[in-house]
Amino acid sequence: MLKTKYNLKEILPLFKSKVVYALAIILVLILTLNILFPLPKPKEFSKVIHANNNSLLSAYLTKDDKWRMKTSPDEVTPDLITAILEKEDKWFYWHFGFNPIAVARAVVQNITRGKRISGASTITMQVARMLEPSSRTYGKKFLEILRAVQLEMHYSKKEILEMYLSLLPYGGNVEGVKSASYIFFNRPPDKLSLSQSILLTTIPNNPNLFRLDKGIDNAVKMRNRWIKKYAETNTFNKRNLKDAMNEPVALNRYQIKNEAPHFCNYLSQNYSGDNIKSSLDYSIQKTAERLLLNYVNRVKSKNVSNGAVLIIDNKTNSVVGYCGSADFNDINSSGQVNGVIALRSPGSTLKPALYTLAFDNGLLTPEMKLLDIPTDINGYEPENFDQKFNGEVSARYALVNSLNIPAVRLLQSIGLDKFVPLLAKAGFSDIDKEKKNLGLSLILGGCGVRLEQLTRFFTVFSHNGKLFPLNYLAGKNQNQDKAVKIFSPDAPYITSQILTTNERPDFPAEFLYTTNLPKIAWKTGTSFGKRDAWAIGYNPDYTIGVWMGNFDGAGAPELSGAEMAVPLLFELFNAVDYKPKKKWFEKPNDVLERDVCSETGLLLTPNCEHYVKDFYIKHVSPNTKCNLYKTLYVDEKETMQYCPECLPADGYKKVNYPLYSAELTLWYLKNKTDFKRPPPHNPLCQSKRSGDGPAILSPSADYEYYIEEKSKQQLLLQGASDASIKIHYWYINDQFYKSSKPGERIFFQPQKGLLTITCMDDLGRKTMIHTKVSFY
Ligand SMILES: [Zn+2]
Ligand SMILES: [Zn+2]
Repeated sequence: MLKTKYNLKEILPLFKSKVVYALAIILVLILTLNILFPLPKPKEFSKVIHANNNSLLSAYLTKDDKWRMKTSPDEVTPDLITAILEKEDKWFYWHFGFNPIAVARAVVQNITRGKRISGASTITMQVARMLEPSSRTYGKKFLEILRAVQLEMHYSKKEILEMYLSLLPYGGNVEGVKSASYIFFNRPPDKLSLSQSILLTTIPNNPNLFRLDKGIDNAVKMRNRWIKKYAETNTFNKRNLKDAMNEPVALNRYQIKNEAPHFCNYLSQNYSGDNIKSSLDYSIQKTAERLLLNYVNRVKSKNVSNGAVLIIDNKTNSVVGYCGSADFNDINSSGQVNGVIALRSPGSTLKPALYTLAFDNGLLTPEMKLLDIPTDINGYEPENFDQKFNGEVSARYALVNSLNIPAVRLLQSIGLDKFVPLLAKAGFSDIDKEKKNLGLSLILGGCGVRLEQLTRFFTVFSHNGKLFPLNYLAGKNQNQDKAVKIFSPDAPYITSQILTTNERPDFPAEFLYTTNLPKIAWKTGTSFGKRDAWAIGYNPDYTIGVWMGNFDGAGAPELSGAEMAVPLLFELFNAVDYKPKKKWFEKPNDVLERDVCSETGLLLTPNCEHYVKDFYIKHVSPNTKCNLYKTLYVDEKETMQYCPECLPADGYKKVNYPLYSAELTLWYLKNKTDFKRPPPHNPLCQSKRSGDGPAILSPSADYEYYIEEKSKQQLLLQGASDASIKIHYWYINDQFYKSSKPGERIFFQPQKGLLTITCMDDLGRKTMIHTKVSFY
């Protein structure tokens, strides 16, 4: 029997499954369409750069020359959002791309009235149209609806609203609420008045007619019409609307700001994103710009035309001030060149790195002595800035006075192979690239650095010897976990103590009698030929780098770190961070103080006459006892020395004599009149003496001399001994050559190949070195 009637219980599941099928088919269809017709690519936005307080610094046109700034609903005054939603799309938060009731009504109206009434376009549909502009036909409208649904599938309501606010046309090349807000009203979109908000909601209806840079009458009429409508719908407070109605509108077009141009250009080239919130501190930046420009104007008469400043907040490692030049728009002084990243010679500014390394490696303490005498290192003869020599100086004095010879000698004893990798690790990438070509002159500026690298390097002194990458973006320290250890925490503290002293030649005279002296540690530098003047300073809060010079590389007589860069550094610190009783760095536990011999900086012995306080690092710094004074047996008139072998029964006495190193003795003999020296040894003494032989100053040991083959070029023989020695005997390859006085310069013509040079003093003590001569 055939069943002719179905009961409800049987039909319902069937119906349900059909609905499910239908829904499934629609879903598959939508997904297929979604894949076949992907959404157009988002439009390119203007790159916008803000200071860390959100104020606009600069923005860049898109590739199609538009001011199209991405505008998040959060950045816009709520009144403007309210006005837009009320005007364009009341149900925006409820529909899924289109409003079926509104569409149906529009279709009916279009048919019954025989004319096309636009409308029924949701914000999402308008976004679809703005992404793919096309003529308004029914077919296109339908596609718009599909696109709108697709947009709703892909994006949140907030994202769709953001696209809408960002793409709204305002005439000419102005797109988006944020661009319009800056260009027509010169203010950020969260500072718009109600009148301005309503204008920005109405202008896009017909931007060519309403744009505010061509005329205001039409725009004002349209605004007033909408103010009345909003009054009817109670969208806003009536009194506010009345104020808005009375607010004058100005015909205007403002330039988009171009503040901190070097900083913004650097960011736009190195950081992605449309809306960059940078680390720059607006008020510090303005202060730095003002001080730098004033300063450069003051020194222009001294043929110094430009300068650059970098300010780092030590707590966050953020760049808070950045001036690439004194005036970006000054073409005569190459204002467009960015002095923060220009490659220049650092002068003496790397010396603190070398001394800190020496403290850290236990080679030196601040009071230990370094030689400051004429020095020839394989033909390289460094000179001090003032072309004078001091004989012997403490490391502290050498660093504070930026003496060149002690620094070169220290670098030689530490070795380029230790120092250069340290600088490379500390971010001096140009030094790293050139490492094979660098010599000892590196420490006097014979290399290339950038103000950014140099200033960042000095932050290690505020970070217990660690180096962090710089933050250019706002927000908390993004690079906290990327620290590189450059020094122990101990040595940088000692260097900072030395660099904060005021008794030094590069103390700025302008600040001598002021009470507004910032407590900072600083180091200056002057490059060869007086082409660059540097001053890098720091306290626990900030590290500031200053460069002064000419971008065309011209030198100037007064272009030195002390004269030209330090005064600006002090002005900057006083303006940015003036607190008279500042907290200084805390002394690390392993940095201790001790009394040392003031003549040698070594541990005191009963023979030492004076002492001085010195820092040292526990278990690291040397514990060498002072050995300057030796007790010698001499005759009553101190004309002759005795040894135990030739000591007479009476007629002698014991006297303490300072025994300086051979090199220093040589220099003292020439330059120091009141120099206490031991008398020569008893000439009748027969005993063989032990101890060190003469120091061979030339030729250099383990070195290869290149000599032109037929040039008959000669090599220098020079040796030094303590003051009791009268004669040196020279042997070349074990053949006696000549005798000389200690320190005397004699010459010989070398053969090709390995040479053994021996120097013997009149007590029979020998020193031997090997060297090599090659012909070319
Ligand atoms: Zn001593
Ligand atoms: Zn003797």
